Amino acid sequence: MNSPRALIALSTIALTAFLISCGKDDKPKPDDQVRVREASLNLTCATDRTNAPNTFERPIVIQVSLDGFRADYMQKINPPNLNKIAKAGIYSPGMIPSYPTHTYPNHFTLVTGRTPSHHGILSNVFWDEARKEKYDAFGDSSGDGTWYQGDPIWNVVEKNGMIAHTNQWVGSEVHVNGQDPTCYAPYSSKVNTAQRVNIVMEWLKLPAEKRPHYINTYIAIIDSAGHSAGPNSKEVREAVMEADREVGRLWDFIQKSDLPINLVITSDHGMQENFQDKIIFLGDKTNLSGFKWSDKGAAVMLYHDDEARVQQAYKDLKAKENNYKVYLRNEIPAEFKLDNPDRVGDLLVISELGHYITDRTFNPNKPYRVGGGSHGWPASNKAMHALFIAAGTHITKRRAPITNFSNIDVYPFVMELLGVTTAVPFDGTAATLHPFILQD
Ligand SMILES: [Zn+2]
Repeated sequence: MNSPRALIALSTIALTAFLISCGKDDKPKPDDQVRVREASLNLTCATDRTNAPNTFERPIVIQVSLDGFRADYMQKINPPNLNKIAKAGIYSPGMIPSYPTHTYPNHFTLVTGRTPSHHGILSNVFWDEARKEKYDAFGDSSGDGTWYQGDPIWNVVEKNGMIAHTNQWVGSEVHVNGQDPTCYAPYSSKVNTAQRVNIVMEWLKLPAEKRPHYINTYIAIIDSAGHSAGPNSKEVREAVMEADREVGRLWDFIQKSDLPINLVITSDHGMQENFQDKIIFLGDKTNLSGFKWSDKGAAVMLYHDDEARVQQAYKDLKAKENNYKVYLRNEIPAEFKLDNPDRVGDLLVISELGHYITDRTFNPNKPYRVGGGSHGWPASNKAMHALFIAAGTHITKRRAPITNFSNIDVYPFVMELLGVTTAVPFDGTAATLHPFILQD
């Protein structure tokens, strides 16, 4: 069995610029967690864990997130490595994301099989009327595990006697149900795409008792380029090609490995071009003072404790409905699956594709400007559709593209590949992707 220091040594070899910030006496801390720091990557590893001996030969799953990879980039940009991997395995021309088509809800759906209403991360920003608190993906609340429900795949893997390592995946560092993957790293914009792939390969080089059976890593550059320059931009093309090179490097590594590795590549949502002349200033249509807002952009949820204020705002917004739709909470269409009464707004306002909802009060002193692209619109818009590719030792070669399936079905697929189960309920079904798993 490896000692705690042995794992640090391996990580240090893997990522040469590491500084080790464990205790000066080199003894494990009380919780046996040792922090390994690089200038950017900030890994925390539990060094006392090993795979159960009877699991050493079990399959490995690597889950890669390409944030904001719009499904049709596969045709429009034609990234060669992603297309090669798709041909070696299975592929969907458009996986249907969960609503709202934002980063945090969909990343956590991909690893819990639950809709956002059921795993709790209803949007990137929302209010909980029971807690009387705001969740903000970009604030401290996103690190509080009590917001998150469901059984994340890394917890399932660990409870089934195997090691899971995660890199910057939403929710993997927040101790959901008090549990963690063996190694995890919180999000850092300073980690470049090559480093995000290098760490995966280094983890695969660990000895059998320490080698994770589940690994994920998160790649941000395509979403960033989409927001700043729009989905049809040269910047997005370059970001897709850079991600493609790195994923191709990982695929080549997998091909040379003797390990039973399956690679699952997903995105969380697509991307739509923004238009400066399609901004909807909601406060021009009704008095929204005192209302709390969720995200801005494609849609907003609005919250107010005074039911009369809610009804008045609804009446005004309904009367001026143009390029958007407004719903009271109890009339939100079932297709959106927004059934979390504490967290769904009193009002939901959804703009038509390409329109952008905001308010002048957010930026009172100068003209409001939108970036090149946004997401958040319903999945009925193909611009919001997401990427799904899977290939490896336990996955069939491509037959027909897989159409019309939801991202809640990725979680049971990954569990079946790994041979693990959970007693915790989830919304997805294993039946969707089961036919593409090669049985031993
Ligand atoms: Zn995203």
